[in-house]
Amino acid sequence: MRYSCELIKDLLPLYYDGACSAPSRAAVEEHLAACPACRQTLAAMGEDPYSGQLQREREQVIAHYGDHLKKKAVLIGGCALLVPLLACLVVNIVTGHALDWFFIVLAAMAVFASLTAVPLLAVRKKGLWTLCGFTCSLLVLLLCCCLYAGGDWFWVAAVPVLFGLAAVFLPMVARQLPLRGAPARHRALLVMAVDTLLLYAVIAVCGAYSGAADYWRPALLITTVCALFAWLLFLAIRYLPASGLTRAGICTAAVAIFGSTIQDVIFWILYGERELTLLRADLWHWHTDALVNANTYLLILLVGGAVGAALIEAGLLRRRTPKKR
Ligand SMILES: [Zn+2]
Repeated sequence: MRYSCELIKDLLPLYYDGACSAPSRAAVEEHLAACPACRQTLAAMGEDPYSGQLQREREQVIAHYGDHLKKKAVLIGGCALLVPLLACLVVNIVTGHALDWFFIVLAAMAVFASLTAVPLLAVRKKGLWTLCGFTCSLLVLLLCCCLYAGGDWFWVAAVPVLFGLAAVFLPMVARQLPLRGAPARHRALLVMAVDTLLLYAVIAVCGAYSGAADYWRPALLITTVCALFAWLLFLAIRYLPASGLTRAGICTAAVAIFGSTIQDVIFWILYGERELTLLRADLWHWHTDALVNANTYLLILLVGGAVGAALIEAGLLRRRTPKKR
């Protein structure tokens, strides 16, 4: 053997932690191949109570170094943002003798920072903090633009933005909320309720902004019909005590009925026309736009209804058939 056991035993802890150099590693492996005593020493290290401690310490060192790198990146990024920000501050004061559009630049930088620095700095729930930062800074940016332009459109811009963000991200946010008991079991219900409130808020701010007196009745009625349909689907999917197939069937049939009649309902609300386009369908004649329209609705209803009925029947059949063991 080229190396003494004493020398190898000195190197073994480093070898075990994967911290020794390539030549040392080769020397240890060459020795281990020929020396059962040192192999036994290495095997015993796995059971050594200190090895767990070493592992934890190593992880702590890596985490600490990671934190250090993160702070450095944020510091460099912050300095890089500060230079154009200061330039804008000076130019705004010199040219306008006051600060106005500078705040738009500041808010825009905050939007940028919310998407870059916040995910780096947040220790836990990075997604949640990033989304909060992004939403708040975006609203501030809208407010700054609106004030600078002397507009009165802040709410009519902010509420639809909130509604859009909520529709996409609220399910993810709701999953992370630290809820207990009944609210924790009905997170989806909570999301639907907030989305519905925001939808009505959008209708309300648009109505207030337009100032048209004949806006409210049709807007509220059409929104309510569509919201009720969305709630019906949601309640069927989430709470109906039936198999997945049956629920899929009910939803398919409901979408077919909704899709083939909603235009008539909207025309009824808007113009008082009480006519069901479907009744004018004639599948053997397609030569006018009205016929194409009516026939398409009929096909949607027939196909959707048939698929829905088949799914419901399949779901019921599966329930009736005793399970094989
Ligand atoms: Zn040895």
